[in-house]
Amino acid sequence: MIPGDGIGPEVADAAARAIDATGVKIDWERIELNADLIQKRGEVLPNEVMDSLNRTFTGLKGPVTTPIAGGFQSVNVALRKRLDLFANVRPIRSLPGVKTRFQDLKLDMVIFRENTEDLYSGLEHEVVKDVVTSLKVITRTASIRIANYAFDYAKATNRRKVSAVHKANIMKLADGLFLRCCREVASGHPEVRYEELIVDNASMQLVIRPETFDILLLPNLYGDIISDLCAGLVGGLGIVPGANMGEKHAVFEAVHGSAPDIAGKGIANPTALMLSGVMMLIHLKEMDAANRLQTAIETVYASQGAVTRDLGGNATTQQFTDAVIAAMK
Ligand code: ATP
Repeated sequence: MIPGDGIGPEVADAAARAIDATGVKIDWERIELNADLIQKRGEVLPNEVMDSLNRTFTGLKGPVTTPIAGGFQSVNVALRKRLDLFANVRPIRSLPGVKTRFQDLKLDMVIFRENTEDLYSGLEHEVVKDVVTSLKVITRTASIRIANYAFDYAKATNRRKVSAVHKANIMKLADGLFLRCCREVASGHPEVRYEELIVDNASMQLVIRPETFDILLLPNLYGDIISDLCAGLVGGLGIVPGANMGEKHAVFEAVHGSAPDIAGKGIANPTALMLSGVMMLIHLKEMDAANRLQTAIETVYASQGAVTRDLGGNATTQQFTDAVIAAMK
């Protein structure tokens, strides 16, 4: 467990309590990782983080603040690269009772975001004063790998369609390569419908007819942006979970960041990390515990018993967590 900083420790405690209440036996190893510690230690990923993940291969992680326009490298990006967590999987699902602008729609789609390259290469350079270049790296290896992951998932879960999102009309080489890889993998899966959308059009289509989407397959940056857009469709960042999957390691974390505006107030919505916990339990093949937690969360939302402020209620993080645990009993 990496609680992180900002609202991280609050939602991590809540998620651990809810997971423990399922009856599953998890021996949590709590590893501190936050902006203060990183600054003090002068390293983004201290040894104890890597040692723990190389021993357990599984993590549940809260957000860690990334300084804007300077400062240390993003911990989240560093961890994904170091452990080669190449697939960022983010299910976007409507929860019963949650009020959104799309009230009558039951959305159920999954985002597959390439997690290791693109403009997150961190290769930036000031050529001369006031002229900066930033390298967008797209490789065949990483693009084929994420496309395979998305199509394999589609096949295993009987999904009907994969939409690849790109800007290959402008970035003809970089996004062109990503698209060629997606097409190549798609051709091996004739049972799954495949379509391509330019990212700007995809953004509009997602807002006006989100129900037509099923699986979204995107390079890193578009995946990041479209994830927040999709979170908005189902009620916001408070409820969208995620998984960073590698060949060996898996780190589960919510889509949201450290939310400094509400940190320490006890009002953060822990649902996103709890649902990331459900994904972790499924990964660990603890299916009963996963079902119990998922059902309890849905029960609380369906009854609108204890809803946090981001979704229009006034429950605290703790009250929501208590309600989820009570629903399990
Ligand atoms: P990052 O770039 O690190 O992912 P971000 O810029 O997307 O972060 P967040 O920290 O995720 O920003 O916060 C965006 C907004 O969503 C803030 O107003 C924050 O309060 C709200 N928010 C995020 N997570 C939660 C949560 N779990 N519960 C309630 N509100 C949240």
